[in-house]
Amino acid sequence: MKGDAVRVAIVGGGIAGTLLAWRTVRAPGGAVVDLFTDGTGGRADASRVSGGLVRGFEPTVAATGPAAESLAEIRGSDILREWSGYRETGALYVLPAGADAREPAEVVDAYLPGSAEVVGRDGVIGAFPFRTLPAGSVAVVERHAGHISPHRLRTAALRAAAGAGVTVHEAPVGEVTRDPAVCTADGRTLRYDRVVVAAGAWTPKLLARSRLPVAGLRTKHIQYSLCETPLEGLGPFVDENSGLYGRPHEDGGFLLGLPSDRWGVDPDAMAPDQALARRVAESARRVFGVPVAVGRTVASCDCYHDPAGLELRSLGPGLHTFTGGSGGAAKTVVAASRKAAAALLA
Ligand SMILES: Cc1cc2nc3c(=O)[nH]c(=O)nc-3n(C[C@H](O)[C@H](O)[C@H](O)COP(=O)(O)OP(=O)(O)OC[C@H]3O[C@@H](n4cnc5c(N)ncnc54)[C@H](O)[C@@H]3O)c2cc1C
Repeated sequence: MKGDAVRVAIVGGGIAGTLLAWRTVRAPGGAVVDLFTDGTGGRADASRVSGGLVRGFEPTVAATGPAAESLAEIRGSDILREWSGYRETGALYVLPAGADAREPAEVVDAYLPGSAEVVGRDGVIGAFPFRTLPAGSVAVVERHAGHISPHRLRTAALRAAAGAGVTVHEAPVGEVTRDPAVCTADGRTLRYDRVVVAAGAWTPKLLARSRLPVAGLRTKHIQYSLCETPLEGLGPFVDENSGLYGRPHEDGGFLLGLPSDRWGVDPDAMAPDQALARRVAESARRVFGVPVAVGRTVASCDCYHDPAGLELRSLGPGLHTFTGGSGGAAKTVVAASRKAAAALLA
């Protein structure tokens, strides 16, 4: 390791922090990387409970690029497929009348040739178990899409990062400063050339505690319920008409969810929104015309940013955040972490 190597601290051991640490320590020039995890080992962070849906298509071209690029990299890498437990199942994304599916679908096709097909309302009803869809709906069917285990990916990346020389501190960070420095909860102050806060939904809290601007980052509740339902012939899907999203569960049943409107939630005090879970069942019965019984509901949250996207954002010289995935960073983290590591060391 060169004596003048850049010293980098990364706070947070979810998929964002661990993949950024792994990318950064392997970047040309040889950075010295310290990764701070919360040390609890069992916290139900977003990476642990994530549904892990990965597809290329998003409703805008800007959001499709990073998702399609990440998915192409996972599919093309034996290591990333193994680390993430990628399962290819295909995916369906239904949009309301008037939406432009074609342009983002072309971006998917550029990264994943032959994957995306735009179909009309009747094509969706003919091929998938939708009882009804509003007139003019369009959809994108992706062949090369599926799901990963973000927790498995983070565990593997952490192990590889440590093997490549990253020092892992199982010590929660109390504050970060503009020096930039990291102050651990056990009273140590450690100075670096770059500090990156990648603490997911805990990022706004940590920045506020550090008397730093939260920079447009905020938390939002996300949940899904494991439902018993005879829903056949449907893989991972999003239906923007009803808001429903979901995928079959490996052990039977179907994970189903609807977007929450609970903003500014405390990641340390998440509880299921039972009214939202009931709306999921009602909505799924209406859209698919099948019985739906709600079982276990998993509630968590993520860090959101407008515009959405996991990326390196500056808080001043040497100080950054790497979060803001807005409920979708499992899709983009592979490409986003590569770009963030390059930007960090540029
Ligand atoms: C229920 C749910 C379902 C989802 N489904 C999908 C999906 O299907 N597809 C998709 O693409 N995305 C999905 N997402 C989003 C995706 O999982 C998240 O965007 C991603 O996991 C965020 O990773 P992260 O590393 O930024 O945050 P996290 O995984 O939350 O990790 C942050 C880490 O920082 C640690 N930390 C916090 N404070 C400190 C501190 N002071 N010191 C040290 N460490 C600290 C925390 O303990 C935690 O381990 C879902 C999210 C949720 C909640």
